[in-house]
Amino acid sequence: MYNSTETLPLPVMGVERKTIPVACPWCDKIFGVAKLEIEGSRKIAPVHKICKTCFEFVNQGIIKDNG
Ligand SMILES: [Zn+2]
Repeated sequence: MYNSTETLPLPVMGVERKTIPVACPWCDKIFGVAKLEIEGSRKIAPVHKICKTCFEFVNQGIIKDNG
């Protein structure tokens, strides 16, 4: 008979590689993709990262932080 206290081997959940969009919060554009390793059925959300153009603007002080 089945022993309820027995530990059953769980199927090994592989780590899935997914490409998710990388969006710039400054100009609201998707400028690239990021490759992430996600376990099983974890939810994914877009990555927010400053794009090169906006990064240069910020570096030059053109875009000011208005809070
Ligand atoms: Zn941008």
